[in-house]
Parts: sequence; structure tokens; C-alpha cells
Amino acid sequence: MPRRTKIVATLGPATDRPTVMQDLIAAGVDVVRLNLSHDSRERHRERAERIRDYAVAAGPEVAVLIDLQGPKIRIGRFADGGVILARGDAFAIDANCGLDAGDASRVGTTYPRLAEDLKHGDRLLLDDGAIELWVDSVADGRIDCRVVVGGRLSDSKGINKKGGGLSAPALTEKDKDDIRFAAEIEADYLAVSFVRNGDDVRLARELFYEAGGRGGIVAKIERAEALRGIDDIIDAADAIMVARGDLGVEIGDAKLPAVQKKLISRAREMNSVVITATQMMQSMIQSPIPTRAEVFDVANAVLDGTDAVMLSAESSIGKYPAKVVEALDRICLEAEKSVTRSGHRIDSVFGRVDEAIAMAAMYAANHLGVKAIAALTETGSTVKWMSRISSGIPIHAMTRFQPTRRKVRLFRGVYPVSFDVASTDIHEVNREVIEELLRRGTVRDGDLVIITKGDRSGVEGQTNVMKIMRVGEHRLLNED
Ligand code: PGA
Ligand code: MN
Repeated sequence: MPRRTKIVATLGPATDRPTVMQDLIAAGVDVVRLNLSHDSRERHRERAERIRDYAVAAGPEVAVLIDLQGPKIRIGRFADGGVILARGDAFAIDANCGLDAGDASRVGTTYPRLAEDLKHGDRLLLDDGAIELWVDSVADGRIDCRVVVGGRLSDSKGINKKGGGLSAPALTEKDKDDIRFAAEIEADYLAVSFVRNGDDVRLARELFYEAGGRGGIVAKIERAEALRGIDDIIDAADAIMVARGDLGVEIGDAKLPAVQKKLISRAREMNSVVITATQMMQSMIQSPIPTRAEVFDVANAVLDGTDAVMLSAESSIGKYPAKVVEALDRICLEAEKSVTRSGHRIDSVFGRVDEAIAMAAMYAANHLGVKAIAALTETGSTVKWMSRISSGIPIHAMTRFQPTRRKVRLFRGVYPVSFDVASTDIHEVNREVIEELLRRGTVRDGDLVIITKGDRSGVEGQTNVMKIMRVGEHRLLNED
């Protein structure tokens, strides 16, 4: 059985080295992420082009996910690279301080309005929580603090507010330019960082579509306030990302496991898709094998029901990009063996015919011992519904549309198949579908297969037929 959980890997300097991209593809990467917090657009464009070329040469297309930098608030730089802060020291973050003029008493910030969001008693976390400041007073853009947890503070480190509540809008001017870039390179997914609510997601989608983009929107859940309005965010987005890095800083690391489980199950319940991200295989930046704790983390995310697991620095700047993907592959495959069937939406009322067909197909497949599902799809919506149900049965998304084939690579248990319906005769179409699965070696004579499709192929959202067939008998079909 093929791996169901999908692998997202970030491209970067480490994957620019000769043959590394090909190795990633051979190891089974499904989606590549271009992180616009680093490197130039031209560099990203080259990476997208190269990986797409290699993927097409090797087999199914990979999806490309553009990840916007977002309003990551940072301190400015110091005259000499950094300062040492000790517990109890007075230290200020000051919008009036030049971005290059930090010293032992104060430093500038990339978000001049930071002071407006803060008051006496708030806590600021710098450098992913390594340094903690307690806000004493705020005046004229200057935030006077006391050091609670000290250490060395160096140039341009990130700032988070404990508990969330920084008002910076999710899209900066750079992000808006990057959205146009994402449209230009036909990104399959656009990930929006630091979304506060559904409106941030809807605005990103509007700008992306206006620029000609057609991919899905991924809402990165990394602010405390995003958790409070999570349903509206899930509703507005095509997928969410559990962005454990920044989220862990805002809500505290101890809360992450329960929040991850809730986000994954809520996303699936609402027929959405979910990526689990950050530090899954962190030690493999340096080491050829993961720690036991990392093996458990990845397996637990699979058991929680995530669609995909993601690599950041492990693949973009790490020593062993392809080895990390291989490790994820084997851990996911093994963990999937202990996934039990879900009672997903067993008590729901379905609102649409195609949705009902998708659910019926999965129910039948899970109870009848079907070998494969073949869904003739235009946009991928039918296979998305299907893949929300836990199952060991592969769902083949058969479509002539390349963007759809790339999009569905993110969905758990879904495999894209390039397939053009040549015939208008319904029996002939069924025959072609089964012949294609036979050619791919996914079924054998005697296996049961479920085919779903619309009466009129080529029309979106029209799946209204489910057919259960036995491989072998399909050869007799058009002789009646
Ligand atoms: P980032 O987002 O890697 O863009 O910061 C992921 C996270 O915060 O976990
Ligand atoms: Mn982040």
C-alpha cells in the first residue's frame, strides 16, 4: 500500500545542490514549500521551475506552496551585532531608535506601532521565546521593559506577545507583491502567515485571484487569537497549517499537543485539510537519523489524522534533505497501519449530491473490502470529501486537469492520475478507468473497484454516480 500521509518539504540552499531535488522526488515528496521569508523571488522562481521539470520527468507532478513572510515583527540591529541582557536589567524597544542603532539600553523595531498594542504588565518573547521581557511602561512609541529571562540578544530577532494580541495585519506590502509573484508562477497553494481571522484569509484569496492565481489558500495558525475564531478561518481557507513554531511561543509549548489534536480533528470535521509543521525532524538538520522523540511526534501527527507533515530547515538548509524525506516516509507508512476507521460524519446530513456520493463510496469501500477508489474529478472536491474519512483504501483522483492533479497531492490517501475521458459511452469510460488502474499495477483481476463520476463528464461538481465493479468483468462490459 502506498503512503497516505503527504510530505511537504521546504526548498532552500541545501536543495539547490546538484541532484538533491531529484532525490527528494525519488524519496516521495508531495509538495514543496518556497519560504518567502528568505531569498529572492528569482531564486524561488528557479526552484519552482526546476522541481516541476524534474517531477514531470519522474512521474506525477508535485504541488508548489508559496509561504508568505507575513508581519513577523522583529527588533532592529545592534551597532555591534548583539547585547547580553541579564535578569532585572532595564531594556527598551523603541520605535524612535534607528534600525541599525541598537545598544545595551534599547533597540529599534520593524513594526513602529508595536507600542500601541502593549501596556504595563504584558510580556514580550524574543528570539522564539529564548528571551522574555516584562513591559513596565509605554510612551511615545517607546516600550520600557525589565528583563525576566536574559541571554544574548542579537540582530533582527522576532518578537511575539505572550497570549497574542498584536494588531499587525496579516498582509504586509511585501506580502502583496509576493502574492502577485505566487500567481505568476501558478502556485498550487498560497500560505498566509499570522492570520487573525477569516477576513485575513478572504482578503489574501481576493488579491491572489485578482492577480490571476488559482491555487488554494492555506491559513497558518500561529497566533493565539486565530484559535479563538478557528471555525471562520477553516471555513475561509482551503487548508490550515499547525504552525507550531510561532504558535508555541504565543500560547506556550505545553499547550501545543492538545491544540494540534483539536485543530486536526476540527479541520477534518469541517471537510478541510491540515498540515502539521515545524521541528518535526529538527535533529536531522545535523544528523542522518531522527531522535526517538521525533519518530513519536511524526507518528502521533499521523494518528491525529493530519493530511501532511512538513519539513522546514531540515530540508532547506539541513545536511540530509532526501534522508529526512525517507525517514518521514517510513515512519508515516508504519503509523498508518494502526489507524482505525473513523465514524466520520456518520450522523451528518449531507447538503450536496456529490458529497453524498463521496461519503457513500467511502462507506461502501470500507465495509466491502474494495481495493481502490477511482474518482473522475474536475476540481478535486469529491476526493477531498472522500479523504476526510479514515481508510486504508487508495483514492485515485483521475483528471485531465494538471492543476487539480497538483492540488490533490496534499490530500491524505489521494493519488493523482492523468486521465482523459476519451469516450462518451458510459461502459467504455468504466473500461478505460480499470485498464488505467491495471496499467499502474494498483489492481488485479478479481479486485473490487469503486468508480465515481458525473453523468456529464467535464462539468464541475456533478459527481452523481457510484459504480462497483470487479476487475476482469469490465472486459465483458461493452459486449452486451
Ligand atoms: P514559519 O511558520 O516557518 O514561516 O515561521 C511556521 C511556524 O511558525 O511554525
Ligand atoms: Mn511562523
